[in-house]
Amino acid sequence: MHANPAHSAPMIARVEPLTRTRAVRGPFDYRLRPDQADVGVGTVLRIPFGRQTTLGVVLELASDSELAFERLAEPNAILPPGVPPDLVALAGWIAEQYCSTPARALSLVLPPPGAGRRRPALQATLTEAGAAALLGAGRLTDRQRELLRRLHSDGPVPAAALGTAALRRLQERGLVELSPLAPGGRPITPAVGRRLEGLPALTAEQRRALEAILGALGPAPPAAGRFLLHGVTGSGKTEVYLQAVQATLAAGRGAVVLVPEIALTPQTVGRFQARFGDVVAVLHSGLGRHERHEEWLRLRHGEARVCVGPRSAVFAPLADIGLIVVDEEHDPSYKHEGDPRYDARSVALRRARQHGAVLLAGSATPRPESVVALTQLHLPHRIDGRPLPPVEVLDMRGLHHPLHPRTRMALADVRADGAKAIVLLNRRGWSNFLSCRGCGRVWMCPNCEVALVLHGAQGFLSCHHCGHRRRAATRCEHCGSVAVARHGSGTESVEQELREAFGRELPVFRLDADAAAGRGRLAETLSRFESAPAGVLLGTQMVAKGHDFADVALGVVLDADQTLRFPDFRAEERTFALVTQLAGRVGRGQAAGKVLVQALAPEARSITLAARHDADAFLAQELKRRQVLGYPPYGSLIRVVCSSPDAAEADAMAARLHGLIARSGGIVLGPAPLFRLRGRSRSQLVIKCRDRLAMVRAVGVAVEQCATDAARRSVSVSVDPDPQ
Ligand code: ADP
Ligand code: ZN
Ligand code: ZN
Repeated sequence: MHANPAHSAPMIARVEPLTRTRAVRGPFDYRLRPDQADVGVGTVLRIPFGRQTTLGVVLELASDSELAFERLAEPNAILPPGVPPDLVALAGWIAEQYCSTPARALSLVLPPPGAGRRRPALQATLTEAGAAALLGAGRLTDRQRELLRRLHSDGPVPAAALGTAALRRLQERGLVELSPLAPGGRPITPAVGRRLEGLPALTAEQRRALEAILGALGPAPPAAGRFLLHGVTGSGKTEVYLQAVQATLAAGRGAVVLVPEIALTPQTVGRFQARFGDVVAVLHSGLGRHERHEEWLRLRHGEARVCVGPRSAVFAPLADIGLIVVDEEHDPSYKHEGDPRYDARSVALRRARQHGAVLLAGSATPRPESVVALTQLHLPHRIDGRPLPPVEVLDMRGLHHPLHPRTRMALADVRADGAKAIVLLNRRGWSNFLSCRGCGRVWMCPNCEVALVLHGAQGFLSCHHCGHRRRAATRCEHCGSVAVARHGSGTESVEQELREAFGRELPVFRLDADAAAGRGRLAETLSRFESAPAGVLLGTQMVAKGHDFADVALGVVLDADQTLRFPDFRAEERTFALVTQLAGRVGRGQAAGKVLVQALAPEARSITLAARHDADAFLAQELKRRQVLGYPPYGSLIRVVCSSPDAAEADAMAARLHGLIARSGGIVLGPAPLFRLRGRSRSQLVIKCRDRLAMVRAVGVAVEQCATDAARRSVSVSVDPDPQ
């Protein structure tokens, strides 16, 4: 050990360099100059690293190093703002839990790149002229008068709590003074109190749920503060979140609200903004670089104390979090599909524990994992007192038309009544696949072992995995036959079907990844459907997300059991959720509604129980099944995929990993071939285990052991703990 000769204060920073290579593992020691004394945990530095320079994050300060102090390099520059220390710790946890590297995990929590330093937070004070304007009959809008009155009664208030833009206009007229807010000054009182009057009175069920949550918002044993708000669609879950956030703000703490996808949940986001104003920061992928940076800083400086956003919002840089809400907690988008393959729901639990915050997950179709891990609060009734719509399951066996005769009749009624319907088919495109009637050949993707999907309007074939496109064939390249058969239907052909059958009086609004290329289009289609007097919203599972449309009289699920045909232990859960969530969009407001579910396996448990709206029975049976099979929550799964242009190499690597991993206990299934994807053959292992973290570590060690060999054979290995 070499102590720092000149100082007794810690002048050595342990820094994790932000490189993508797995082989490099920090931290490495750097020597700080006296003028770099404000470096702390989370400071972002530009550091010399080997012959290059790179970014690094300080993990720790120290006063001695394994290396001689003089031999340590100095950082080149400090790059503010840094990462809050609690997020540095969280990144360490993620790296370990998801078999990733500290550098990759840290990249999740870095401040978004922005335009350097910014203006400090402001506070607003009423000037003499402002007071005079308030007394006299100055030209003021109602809102301006209200702002001045507030400053008159409360004294100086943080500008963000009242709306900086409005205050600036008053400042220009000399009625208000804006000055920098003292850092660490008095806690910001958000614009909460003045909006209390308009709040809906909670129902008895909502009140009971809220009281349980409020009871845990104070100092409480952590396990008491994790809730699952299990409420049927339209039972007022969002109102409970809103009032829980309000209580959190009133207690001087911040809140994080996770939603599945901003573009599909504009209503939910809008409700938070309407209720809390500028105190809300919204993070989403549509933000420009600068806006994202600004929102991040508003959170970091405490100007915004509620962060609403998709899974990455779980990393919101709030100093003191009292509540984390996970809306629609069953939604698969909470799982991140790149390295680190984190699950925002698990990260939310961890972060809640770090901050002593309450975790509040909510859904009409919660995951079995959450039912076991969280305290359930029930909202069994819809707010408007309406029953959930009756669901009829239609047997499609032996029918060759995509619409059952009863579905056609029901849609004809919707047209006759000038009403609205939602039709869900979880498959985009025109036809599922094309085959040659001459030789039976199916048009496949050249890069992936999957059939190409026909997209009708444009007449092209497309691979839904790699994006490969080609013109639709009119003759077989193999045998020359011109008899090309189209199989199955997708949202595009059903759109055509509906237009032909029902004409102009029943306009069709299509919502899928093709129709909504460009995220603005999604919200636009949703709002056009909402404001149209009549019509059909047709689309993939997007149409079943939490939309709150009044007056949808009919819901239809086409090919409801297609999700069941996937070899996935979550298939039942997905199918149940899809049917239940669609039913939840129907019969709100004035229209009574009904739901039709077309299926080839109409007696499947997930479909019959969804038709009876019996989530509790479904969960009970699902938990029993999972217990027998050792699936989550009764065991953990880890998926390992080896991929290579050469199938034999991928297989060999998977077999070798199997051998290494099996030694550390757990059940290793595979190697099993997966379909070729993007020109790479894939071989998969699935590990079932009880001790998740120990197994993640063992897998990490095994993968590391093979790393050099894998690189030489151009095999890449990905590890996915808790796969979806
Ligand atoms: P969920 O999130 O469970 O689907 P919402 O919170 O969206 O349900 O509530 C459904 C509708 O009922 C919304 O329009 C909401 O504004 C309204 N609502 C919620 N709680 C109340 C209440 N206590 N009184 C009156 N209306 C309410
Ligand atoms: Zn052919
Ligand atoms: Zn492909």
